[in-house]
Amino acid sequence: MAEQSRVVLVTGGSKGIGRTIALQFRDAGYRVAATYRSGDVPEGVLGVVCDITDQGQVDQAFDTVEAELGPVEIVVANAGVTKDTLLLRMSDDDWNTVIDTNLTGTFRVVRRASRAMMRARFGRVILISSVVALLGSAGQINYSSSKAALVGMARSISRELGTRNVTANVIAPGFIETDMTAVLADDVIAGYKARIPAGRLGSVDDVAQAALFLAGDHAGYITGAVLPVDGGLGMGH
Ligand code: NDP
Repeated sequence: MAEQSRVVLVTGGSKGIGRTIALQFRDAGYRVAATYRSGDVPEGVLGVVCDITDQGQVDQAFDTVEAELGPVEIVVANAGVTKDTLLLRMSDDDWNTVIDTNLTGTFRVVRRASRAMMRARFGRVILISSVVALLGSAGQINYSSSKAALVGMARSISRELGTRNVTANVIAPGFIETDMTAVLADDVIAGYKARIPAGRLGSVDDVAQAALFLAGDHAGYITGAVLPVDGGLGMGH
């Protein structure tokens, strides 16, 4: 099958990075579905309502995509949240919400996706992590822990499903201009900018291009990798 007609499911396709990933795959000719909880998904993308903290909703979303477009061949696990505060002030709820969404939610999605990928003997698992997974970040112990765990997840999937022609890779974006980062104080943004060798914040397009690359046939021998898209912020990982 031509790579561009493959079926892609992006979680969290209502806005930010996920929305742009869905758009770029659509524009490249892929058959694209995206999950959303609020808002909508881009025109030409199949929207499926799904909260990834609920396995029933994840299963239902996959069932719908399979019925409408066919088995999911490429999954981009992008949905994620932050609940930042310092360690001493971090409540169980702050911890659990972030872990349940970013880590366990991603697990729910890739577990459901793996079934059809193993059957098809083809799959691309792309996990959206973060530069802070390996760099650490004060005030983000829940978030950085959840994102670091995705590296272990991708590498374990690579070992488990590698011979089935399933690759699993991590994209580690740096500071990308989206709603998630719009809430940060100006001095925090200026501080980051000063530390980024590229001298600028990243764009959603920068991340989407990396996802397109990892999904393509030419990336078939890349698995278990962490691909930074961070303007050099995390160099030394
Ligand atoms: P946004 O806040 O703009 O978008 C987050 C997306 O995740 C939304 O579509 C949201 O859906 C979805 N989402 C959140 N919780 C759930 C849930 N429980 N179930 C289903 N969907 C959910 O964030 P970004 O676009 O900035 O971030 C996208 C990913 O990239 C995240 O994983 C984030 O951690 C990561 N990242 C972002 C960076 C940045 O600088 N922006 C840097 C590094 C990593 P809805 O709005 O419908 O609830």
